[in-house]
Amino acid sequence: MTTHDVLIIGAGLAGMRAAVAIPAHLNVGIISKVHPVRSHSVAAEGGINAAIHPDDSWEAHMYDTVKGSDWLGDQDAIEVLCQEAPQDIHRLEQMGALFSRDAAGRIAQRNFGGLGFPRTCYVADRTGHALVHLLYEQLLKRNATVYEEWYVTSLIVQEGVCCGATVLNIRDGEVSAIGAKAVILATGGCGRVYKISTNGLINTGDGMALAYRAGVPLQDMEFIQFHPTTLKETGILITEGARGEGGYLFNSRGERFMEKYAPKMKELASRDVVSRAAYQEIMEGRGVEGCVMLDLRHLGKKKILEKLPQIWELSQTYAGVNLAEAPVPITPGVHYVMGGIKTNLWGETPLPGLYAAGECASVSVHGANRLGGNALMETITYGRRTGTSAAEFSAKAKQIPLPDVKEERARIDAIRLSSKGEKIGAVWGDVGSIMADYFGIVRAKDRMKEGVQQLQSVRPRLLNLALMDHGHIFNMELIEALQLYSVMDLAEVIATAALHREESRGAHFRSDFPKRDDTHWLKHTLSYKTETGLRLEYQPVTLTRVPLAERAY
Ligand SMILES: Cc1cc2nc3c(=O)[nH]c(=O)nc-3n(C[C@H](O)[C@H](O)[C@H](O)COP(=O)(O)OP(=O)(O)OC[C@H]3O[C@@H](n4cnc5c(N)ncnc54)[C@H](O)[C@@H]3O)c2cc1C
Repeated sequence: MTTHDVLIIGAGLAGMRAAVAIPAHLNVGIISKVHPVRSHSVAAEGGINAAIHPDDSWEAHMYDTVKGSDWLGDQDAIEVLCQEAPQDIHRLEQMGALFSRDAAGRIAQRNFGGLGFPRTCYVADRTGHALVHLLYEQLLKRNATVYEEWYVTSLIVQEGVCCGATVLNIRDGEVSAIGAKAVILATGGCGRVYKISTNGLINTGDGMALAYRAGVPLQDMEFIQFHPTTLKETGILITEGARGEGGYLFNSRGERFMEKYAPKMKELASRDVVSRAAYQEIMEGRGVEGCVMLDLRHLGKKKILEKLPQIWELSQTYAGVNLAEAPVPITPGVHYVMGGIKTNLWGETPLPGLYAAGECASVSVHGANRLGGNALMETITYGRRTGTSAAEFSAKAKQIPLPDVKEERARIDAIRLSSKGEKIGAVWGDVGSIMADYFGIVRAKDRMKEGVQQLQSVRPRLLNLALMDHGHIFNMELIEALQLYSVMDLAEVIATAALHREESRGAHFRSDFPKRDDTHWLKHTLSYKTETGLRLEYQPVTLTRVPLAERAY
């Protein structure tokens, strides 16, 4: 039996940062369904927030984050993030992160949405790329066992403790168990629940589904972030850095429409506000073929190429637009899930032995709306904290004997050998369309009820998937089927939580309840899987330093 002191599921920034934080004498295993440097973190563009400038303060970062969260973020968790972020950035630099520099040679910082101070550190518009490669080097130096191209199919829980995972080696199709004294989920987001998204194809929310099936609650899953600027049809992200560097948004009449919706911050209001504004312009007929226009021409070619080289390339390749000469059509698109596996300030979930960090977790720093640049910071700060606490737990724990994986193997074999029924893509496409149509930027009770019913009618179709490939070696169709199960679970959770929250807050906008309602809804939604179906519970929000206030930009 293979065992580790700590088993980390997910090798994006959160998983790798956790691994590097674990003392060297402990035996660490880290699993990823793709090679670690292909984790979605590698795609992060615009930057990472920390109050490192002498004129800035962690208190100001905290205020912006609480306001951005529409007061749903837990303020103790936000305080930890904002206080510890500067030190974590310096540690990254000491490891060798090549942050872009300002004229004085310090780490450069740019403006980002919802920030009262230019606080976003960056590496041009390829920040994730730089950080993922940096941490991969550190991971190799640390000497962990890396299971690359292995897929986790379930968590193993014995005697009320999470003590390992069942894994499928994608290379040869073998199903086995890996034991651990502590398990960390760092499996990233679930953008692929929606039809079009900025997320990589691997962002199917597996870890959230694994935890949910093991009885761990998912928190605040109704809050799905729509990024204001994604390329038409493809959903490819155009970083907020484009507006941070001074880009404007225009409607079909040539009006800089954000002046109307957010007179002070304009294009740099928080993402939910800008996305709703763009959506409203488009719905009221002031769009251009379903888009609005992002204009960077006034920045000039030199600055665009220096600060936003990737955006230049993406616009050219996927929209045929030369950013120095023409505006690029963009539309709001699914980007990030604010909610996730419920954890405390040390990454512990309610299930002993199980931890979570990064986008799959909800310690709740983002509340109802995340500020751009805070997700990367969360992966680093909470990745480190979670690695540290899982290591402490494992030092005191004993390895619980693992059960036979016969049943899990049989379940997977049944899916692999299934040949009668529908194509995976057809079912997945329907889930994605239902989510996009009924649980989008603007939501309402009747529509959502219909959406929930439609999801219910899709569910049984998962039992009749027809696979063309019944083999063991690199059976990606099998992986796709397993991912569809995750997507289906999460679609139901998102839909149910959204239907029940009868207010508008952050990214959750209800046309039938257009106001924030602190009297009844200043609380987190917890979704539990039970034998009789999904159960919702609510839990108070932690308020500390930043008193409740109305949110205006
Ligand atoms: C295009 C894009 C740009 C972004 N830009 C920014 C930005 O500039 N600033 C910012 O703050 N945020 C940004 N974000 C958000 C941020 O990048 C992510 O939230 C963050 O990187 C997630 O990191 P993670 O470590 O939690 O997960 P990921 O990097 O997504 O890694 C997940 C890991 O889990 C593994 N995994 C998942 N399921 C399984 C399974 N069943 N078995 C085995 N392994 C599994 C994957 O293989 C992967 O290694 C961006 C997101 C996108 C999509």
